[in-house]
Amino acid sequence: MEKRIFLASPTMHGEEQQFIQEAFDTNWVAPLGKNVNEFEKELAAFVGVGHAAALTAGTAALHLAVKLAGVQRGDKVFCSDLTFSATVNPVSYEGGEQIFIESERETWNMDPRALEAAFAKYPDCKCVICANLYGTPARLDEIRAICDAHGAVLIEDAAESLSATYKGQQTGTFGQYNALSFNGNKIITTSGGGMLLSDDEEAIAKARFWSTQSREPFPWYEHKEIGYNYRMSNIVAGIGRGQLLHLQEHRDRKEQIYRTYEAAFRDLPLTMNPYLPESRPNFWLSCMTIDPGCAVTPEQVRLALEAENIESRPIWKPMHLQPVFAGHDFITVGDNVGEDIFARGLCLPSDIKMTDADMERVISVIRGLF
Ligand SMILES: *Cc1c(COP(=O)(O)O)cnc(C)c1O
Repeated sequence: MEKRIFLASPTMHGEEQQFIQEAFDTNWVAPLGKNVNEFEKELAAFVGVGHAAALTAGTAALHLAVKLAGVQRGDKVFCSDLTFSATVNPVSYEGGEQIFIESERETWNMDPRALEAAFAKYPDCKCVICANLYGTPARLDEIRAICDAHGAVLIEDAAESLSATYKGQQTGTFGQYNALSFNGNKIITTSGGGMLLSDDEEAIAKARFWSTQSREPFPWYEHKEIGYNYRMSNIVAGIGRGQLLHLQEHRDRKEQIYRTYEAAFRDLPLTMNPYLPESRPNFWLSCMTIDPGCAVTPEQVRLALEAENIESRPIWKPMHLQPVFAGHDFITVGDNVGEDIFARGLCLPSDIKMTDADMERVISVIRGLF
């Protein structure tokens, strides 16, 4: 059996270990220290946002964003439908109710027309969570304008889209609160980790307070609020600082992978995941859809790849189809785009360590089916 080709696995460079060594040498083996502070500053500077809080996970960042947005028991929150469950789970942690918003064909992300329709139906909604799926920016300024017009807080889930831009502006800056993830499969990784970004300095200070058990400034442990143990470790932050040095390089390789698939499938009934001309995705995952009317199914492609020790994965299953969210409203203005993409789509190996020969292996298996 040939060596396994992964969807997306960590790519380390060496600098990561130097930052970790420094943490050991100075004995800052704790959820605070120079790496944590510097990682926050370096990432905020890269993205172009005022303030950042380094946390244990992207999910923790989204949870604190939902708290900062003031979501309370019974509140409705408009959420991307075609996304990973971590985008929407934190609403449940606070007792809120997710209302799922249909995707558009052009980006696979939240359709601004469906968002408008949702506000028409539920004018009191005060929070929207919008994800940039697979590293492709949503129509972020339109979505932001709709949120502003309705007095709703926008939370941008940029977990998959770090280094992608929309109209020249980095993703992770369009929401009042923005979440990043450094999980093992993301474009840069710390093994596990996340960050909350905002221009609101007080909000980030509050997030740090909650993330370190809500300890009041007393000599003894004094608590007026429920706290969380969400702060990033100084060791983990060291990995992040090393990875950040290579973010642009990771992004450029991801784009090459996408372009290689795009060129290889030009004469086949396959279409790559689309994006708007005004956006520059980070191409975190290359995905394809099989054109309507073609007899081959994504599952056949997945199994053919798996037989050659190549990992691929179905498109994220829409949230409104998930048993755990049965009974939640789903706002649609079109022809159920998310279900269609789920039925016809597949995420392809997008690991930046793939060689040209590895990519040739993947492509020839796929070509063999059409
Ligand atoms: C990975 C991911 C998250 C969660 O990040 P973790 O760091 O794994 O908690 C949230 N949203 C999306 C869209 C993701 O892909």
